[in-house]
Amino acid sequence: MSTFKELLRQVKSEIREVSAEEARARAERGATIVDVREADEWEKGHIPGALFIPRGFLELRIEEKVPDKSRELVLHCAGGTRSALAARALQDLGYTNVSSMAGGYGRWKEAGLPVAVPRTLTAEQKERYSRHLKVPEIGEEGQLRLLDAKVLLVGAGGLGCPAGLYLAAAGVGTLGVADFDVVDLSNLQRQVLHTNASVGRPKTESAEATLKALNPDVRVVRHDDRLEAHNVMDLIAPYDVLIDGSDNFSTKYLVNDAAVLQGKTIVYGSIFRFEGQASVFVPRQGPCYRCLFPEPTPPELAPSCDEAGVLGVLPGVVGLIQATEAIKVILGIGQSLRGRLLTYDALEMSFREYRVQRDPRCAVCGDQPTIVKPADLEWSCHIEPRREVPAQA
Ligand SMILES: [Zn+2]
Repeated sequence: MSTFKELLRQVKSEIREVSAEEARARAERGATIVDVREADEWEKGHIPGALFIPRGFLELRIEEKVPDKSRELVLHCAGGTRSALAARALQDLGYTNVSSMAGGYGRWKEAGLPVAVPRTLTAEQKERYSRHLKVPEIGEEGQLRLLDAKVLLVGAGGLGCPAGLYLAAAGVGTLGVADFDVVDLSNLQRQVLHTNASVGRPKTESAEATLKALNPDVRVVRHDDRLEAHNVMDLIAPYDVLIDGSDNFSTKYLVNDAAVLQGKTIVYGSIFRFEGQASVFVPRQGPCYRCLFPEPTPPELAPSCDEAGVLGVLPGVVGLIQATEAIKVILGIGQSLRGRLLTYDALEMSFREYRVQRDPRCAVCGDQPTIVKPADLEWSCHIEPRREVPAQA
């Protein structure tokens, strides 16, 4: 019986050891570097291009991964011990050109040689998003994509609140919140990001506090200024997807035009009394808001903000349709509402769907656009009434 020390000395005398620098030179000449560490070690960083086979699976998998037994292999672990034993095992399997990297990955890093650190979810994130990870269409890759995504909530009101809550819960990494208003007691019947304690405080502040409390992974960016022609382009520029939760024409047209000019997708929503609508506007791949509604309704025909009523739960339904569409757009899965306008009637509890198309005469997304930069509509608090969709085939 020999001690482990003696065994290791024996093994090392029977294999070839190379330095980290030598390993790299050999790899550049075509040798395959085989990392025999465990998965948690690999995930913290590894040699770019290395073949990863944990020591426990080496003999089981090597012949499938490297059928050519004359191929040059440089094995490494963290410090050089496991790879020395592994090299001997491969020699026993008939591999003829095997070496072990002395000092392992630690020595490789000390030498300043290149490493790759794969992005992965933390243990806490794996738990938080475990129900996403179980869905094959999302998985870890999709979750990382959500964490990288930047979504702007245009308005932290009836639609923006439920959409924001669920997008934060889902792990959308950056949520912009654009709203210049303060929380009013009359908002609390439906604007679920805000609470009694936030009455009188800016909506963006209250939204930020609620979203961060729900999910600290989420970075909340507050935009407290009213969206206007002079700031809208810069404000939307960093975002991948815009959620239109605005209630007034001025903002809807302004954001639509800016989004078309920058090629950004808008997830549109609108609510009035018992009815809601939603769609997805992808510039030039489908209609925009102006294609559907070329001109604002004259103020005398539109209800003013003070007159407008809405069933408290209605924006929850429409806002969550918007959040769902935003997540699908980010993940690139499913059929979006692009080219379709979905309408919802809470009293009938019915959904209807209309096909909508890009209008080649549209002032902003048409073939000869006349709107080439965003312009302010005269601002008045008139909400978008329920408008009939132009009949289309
Ligand atoms: Zn258009």
